[in-house]
Amino acid sequence: MKKLLPLFLCIGLFYHADAQESIIGFKPANVSKELSTEAAFDAQLKAQNLDDWMKKLAAEPHYVGTEYGRKNAEWMMKQFKSWGYDAKIETYQVLFPYPKVRLLELTGPTTYKAKLENVAVEGDEYTKQGEALLPSYNAFSTDGDVEAELVFVNYGVPADYEELEKLGIDVKGKIVIAKYYGSWRGIKPKLAAEKGAIGCIIYSDPEDDGYYQGDVYPEGAFKNETGVQRGSVMDMPLYPGDVLTPGYGATKDAKRLDRKDAPTITKIPVLPISYQDAKPLLAALKGAVAPPSWRGALPITYHIGPGPAKVHLKLEFDWQLKPAHNVIATMKGSEFPDQWIMRGNHHDAWVHGASDPISGMVALMEEARVIGALAKKGQKPKRTIVYGAWDAEEPGLIGSTEWVEDHEKELQQKMVAYINTDGNGRGFLGAGGSHTLQAMVREVAQTVKDPQKGVSLAERRAAANMLNGGDGEFKLYALGSGSDYTPFIQHSGIPALNIGFGGESSGGEYHTIYDTYDHYKRFKDFDFAYGITLAKTAGRIVLRLANADVLPFELKQWETTVSGYLDEVMKTADDMRTAVEKHNMLVDKNAFELAANPKEPFVKPKKKELVPYLDFSPMQNELAALKGAINTYASFDYTKLDDAKIKALNELLMKSESQLMSTSGLPRRGWYKHQIYAPGFYTGYGVKTLPAVREAIEQEDWKEAQSEIVKLAETFKQFRAHIEKMNALMK
Ligand SMILES: [Zn+2]
Repeated sequence: MKKLLPLFLCIGLFYHADAQESIIGFKPANVSKELSTEAAFDAQLKAQNLDDWMKKLAAEPHYVGTEYGRKNAEWMMKQFKSWGYDAKIETYQVLFPYPKVRLLELTGPTTYKAKLENVAVEGDEYTKQGEALLPSYNAFSTDGDVEAELVFVNYGVPADYEELEKLGIDVKGKIVIAKYYGSWRGIKPKLAAEKGAIGCIIYSDPEDDGYYQGDVYPEGAFKNETGVQRGSVMDMPLYPGDVLTPGYGATKDAKRLDRKDAPTITKIPVLPISYQDAKPLLAALKGAVAPPSWRGALPITYHIGPGPAKVHLKLEFDWQLKPAHNVIATMKGSEFPDQWIMRGNHHDAWVHGASDPISGMVALMEEARVIGALAKKGQKPKRTIVYGAWDAEEPGLIGSTEWVEDHEKELQQKMVAYINTDGNGRGFLGAGGSHTLQAMVREVAQTVKDPQKGVSLAERRAAANMLNGGDGEFKLYALGSGSDYTPFIQHSGIPALNIGFGGESSGGEYHTIYDTYDHYKRFKDFDFAYGITLAKTAGRIVLRLANADVLPFELKQWETTVSGYLDEVMKTADDMRTAVEKHNMLVDKNAFELAANPKEPFVKPKKKELVPYLDFSPMQNELAALKGAINTYASFDYTKLDDAKIKALNELLMKSESQLMSTSGLPRRGWYKHQIYAPGFYTGYGVKTLPAVREAIEQEDWKEAQSEIVKLAETFKQFRAHIEKMNALMK
């Protein structure tokens, strides 16, 4: 074995050196210059800056509209300017509800008044800022004053309502209580309202988010009994951003919807609470015992109800317009000033937001500082780099959405790609985005080292994936929603990425008063080693996009991925058909009735409509033709093209992602124009790929599924025509 070791090392070194001799998108003659720029970039990154800046930016609550948020924006603008950027603040006037009345009480058969309090902990001075700490609530809950029997609905997702139906339990006219998790929170009140409920309470169960996970704050990182997750419940799957200005910028004089007509405010009042406040409510429920998978870790028997627990929920908000301050910092490219690479992270937080979002924000700033320093020494990026620090992300991606809507035409002309980060932790690289960028991101992940293990980020992640049954291949996940990339990719067809580290820094501080600098330093990326690694990763992606000869978009991996989505969608229809056939057979045989326990509630299921065979051939044929065009493109060597042709090719490459949009957008939510990726209508943050077709199938709307198949085939055709233009250039 020992004798073999030098040979292994030798192969390793050789392979490493070889891998660095090419970079996707670079002519061979330009590779070493780029590598030396990247080495100089890495060498200047300083972890202490991240620490200092986090301490400053997360010192006080800075949700949208606060004085501290405005000061943060101005301070960041000054920093960008001092690093050589042309920086400014662009302000929008956006609706942001602040709670005036929050009342939740159990009115029968026993009584309890929910505390709804921010409770300071010893050893963390940030939690002792009293009135300045934002009260716990869900932004864009409607006002309301309701009293009704309570029903426990597990996570409050579609599958839970199917279970309730089997048990003969209806939530009509009731108030539901749902656990956090299982979906994005906004789905819970949306679905509850659709089912006829008149109020919604969301709580953090200690099983998912509390003492069952580990020691609670301040002893450990996890949620203590008073912690409450704030968060937006705006109907973002319909459209994100300012609720009053859908599709256009919320400038001072913009025409605004009447609040009562704003479709993304919830239909029923909704309030998040702690497990301390949830326990008496849940304990007062009777009726059926909840199925085993619904039960949490509170020391009670979980009943579903309805009642006899009766609750009174009263909520009122101030519904004011607040200024959202986006910081936009630009460094003009030396050769292609009208081709922009944008990097963004939000700066607003629910409370202090040390982890979410400041840990990502400070990594972005350090990256910008060093790129500025390199430019001052003559290593200027060829393309323009734009840094964005977004405000009002937390209430609904508002700052970024308004900016994109306000500047849409220019961005669609000039923007090459948008790279997003948000809160950052420790552990493994997570990267999602446009699959045309997968090959480039993989190459970057193969060159940046993991700070703990010394292997590449790609190797470390592959190891974890393989342990979890994966194949170890580097893949980008598809983007749903939940951060500021959404307006770029899904509304404007601009290629986007979202990157960050996690897996070794879990905790219960998310959107609570405990997401502080102290918590971060004790339980998250305490030495900012992964903050620096994030700056290295995102910085390389930015620099390579900015300096590449030919923009590094690769189509073969896109095609493989999208073909996979098509197979999934077809399989979904087949699986549904098999399931319905089996269900109907069981109904015919009276099996549900015969197997039911007479002591438990039972509702006899009805037979279901058969799943028809859909004609997927328009999509299959167009995708096959597209594959042909992509293979042709992949067979050319673009490094042999002359400069004029490279210029023309880059102009086409920049516009390629936008060919995947349809102007009419997705059914019933035209704001979402991308035909490959969208957040699910009933999952919220969770992605639905080929969303129009997939969701029509999932919702059993076969007519719509068939027409969306034809529409998607048209999108593939449009993309192919564009690739054929690129192929014509190569000849
Ligand atoms: Zn965030």
